[in-house]
Formats: sequence, structure tokens, C-alpha cells
Amino acid sequence: MSTRVALEAISGQDILANSCADGEPHPVYSVVAPVYNEGPTLPEFYRRLSAVLDATGQPWELILVNDGSRDDSLTLMRELHERDSRVKVLSFSRNFGHQLAITAGADYATGDAVIVIDSDLQDPPETIPLLIAEWRQGSDVVYAVREQREGESWFKLTTAKWFYRLIQRITSVHIPADTGDFRLMDRAAMDQMRQIREHHRFMRGLSAWVGFKQSPVYYVRQPRYAGSTNYPLRKMVKLAWDAITSFSFVPLQMATSLGFFVAGLALLGIIVSIISRLFGHAIVGQATTLISVLFLGGVQLIFLGIIGEYLGRIYDEVKQRPLYIVSKAEGFGGRDIEPTPRPRA
Ligand code: UDP
Ligand code: MG
Repeated sequence: MSTRVALEAISGQDILANSCADGEPHPVYSVVAPVYNEGPTLPEFYRRLSAVLDATGQPWELILVNDGSRDDSLTLMRELHERDSRVKVLSFSRNFGHQLAITAGADYATGDAVIVIDSDLQDPPETIPLLIAEWRQGSDVVYAVREQREGESWFKLTTAKWFYRLIQRITSVHIPADTGDFRLMDRAAMDQMRQIREHHRFMRGLSAWVGFKQSPVYYVRQPRYAGSTNYPLRKMVKLAWDAITSFSFVPLQMATSLGFFVAGLALLGIIVSIISRLFGHAIVGQATTLISVLFLGGVQLIFLGIIGEYLGRIYDEVKQRPLYIVSKAEGFGGRDIEPTPRPRA
């Protein structure tokens, strides 16, 4: 990759010469971290992350995306920005969700490599040098695979495991198992991914979809530093549906297969009942009728729901609303945005 090879050759002086307009050196690494009510973790997150990034000896930026936090996260983020201008703060006008927070951070990132990491310290910043090493070896997308997950419920582990197995079976894109959004993307791959503007996003799937040279790095996922997960069952199911509907038609096609199967079963039933009638054993019974009607009614409603999942997503795309709304961007030089002034009463 040209940027990487060039990077190897340039000295600190050259990096300074390559400075942005506001005097900051052009960042080699952009770290994007979505934040939703992570107040207790942020100072420690910054401490560990900046130590790791400083050790690389290259300029870096940290983009903290405040996804409508209701605790003191935003105040803390601003304090970090005041203290260290490499920390930049994007604030959403409300909670738009983890996947859109990552999207916004990636849109504002300018580094040669963009690293996405959770801000709850479940993804250890100390893994980043491994991601960087793979990138320097020529990989464009380096995804971190959870070798082990500590401090998570049996339910979360089991559902996650089956979800990844299912998605691998029903999609044509290879979405690696046991990966989260913790990854590094080269500028070239990231620029391609940024062109994808679909609303219901499954970022780890999209980053596999763009292709380029992809390679894994293994790590042990840590327990949360503080607080509890912001992904309750409802959000997990939504993410799973977003993943499935974005990458597969199989749920829609299942209706056809099941339709043929039930029709075949019905044909068999007709033949059996004619034959038994001829031999004087007519099949009678309300229960049989009721069960088959309810069964078919249930199956039809399920498939109506599945069609609804796709239809709703098509509706959201057609409306063409922006993916997210940034109320304030701090530390981005010319791209800083002030919130829309309120009309006076
Ligand atoms: N997050 C976010 N918006 C949300 C929920 C979560 O930005 O609506 C952030 C959160 O602060 C964390 C990351 O996304 O940095 C992953 O969330 P969480 O830890 O709750 O998910 P889990 O790791 O349990 O899957
Ligand atoms: Mg987490």
C-alpha cells in the first residue's frame, strides 16, 4: 500500500511538514470510539489508549463519538479534548446507536489507518500494536477475533456463537465468526466503506464486504471496566436482523421451500384420505382441521413478519434521511459545527 510504504520512509520532520492547516500533524492513526454513558471508564480508557498510541511514535487522533450519553461522558470528553488536542469530540443530537456512532467517527477520521474500538475497555487498547503490525505487513482490514470472552453471560456467549454460525451459512460474504467492530482499516478500504450509506448497518459485515486483504488478530475480550452492557436483548435482536437482512435473502426464500413442503404434505393427506374413504375409513375430526388451519395461519404470519422486516428497511432507505445528526464537532479545525441556534421565544 503506497501510504504505508511511504510512511516507513518518512521521518518526524516530514510528518510535521505534512501538517494540517491548524498546525496539527496529519494523523497516521485515527482511533474511533463510540461512547454511550461511559463516564466512569473514559479517563482510564484515554490513559491506556494514549500510552499505546504514543508508543507507536506516530501522530494520532482519537475521535470520541458521544452517542447521546445521559451521564457526565460529554463533560469528561471535553476535558480530555482541552487537555490533549489530539482528542476530538463528535456529539450526536440524540442516541443514534453504536453502529451509526462508528460510521460518524469514520466519516470524520483523516488517518492513514482507522481503528475502531469500544470505549468500555472490553477491547484492550494493548491489542492495537498487533493490528498495526498486520497492517504494516500489507493487510487492509485487520479484524480482531475474540479468542476468549471474559465476564459475559452464558446467554450472550451462546446467542453470539449461534448467530455467527447462522450468518456464515446464509450469506455469500464471509463474515468472520467471533469478531466485533474492533478492527483496523486502511484508508483505501475505509474510503470504499464510507461510500456505503445504508441505514440499517452491520459494520463488521460491511467491512468484510468491501474485500481487500483481510486478516485476523486474536485477543481475549475483557470484562467491562465499569457499568453494564448497553446492548439489551432488544438491541441484539435488531442488530441480528440488520445483519441478516443486509446480507441475505434466505429468510424470504424459506417461504417458498416451506410452501412446497406444506403443499406436498397436503397432497399426501388428500391421497391418504381418498384411499381410506374407499376402504370405508373416512378421516374425521375437528382437531385435525383446527391444528392444520392454526399451523398454516402461524406460518403465514411468520413469513408476513419476515417480509415486513425487509419492507421496513426498504422504507427507511427510500426516505433518505441523513444517517445521523451531529450537534457539535470539537477539535476538527474547519469542520467544527456549532449546534443550530435556537429561535428566541
Ligand atoms: N454504544 C453506543 N451507543 C449505544 C450503545 C453502545 O455508542 O446506543 C457504545 C458503548 O459506549 C460501547 C460500545 O458502543 O463503547 C459497545 O457497547 P456495549 O459495551 O454496551 O455492547 P457490548 O460490548 O455489551 O456488546
Ligand atoms: Mg461492551
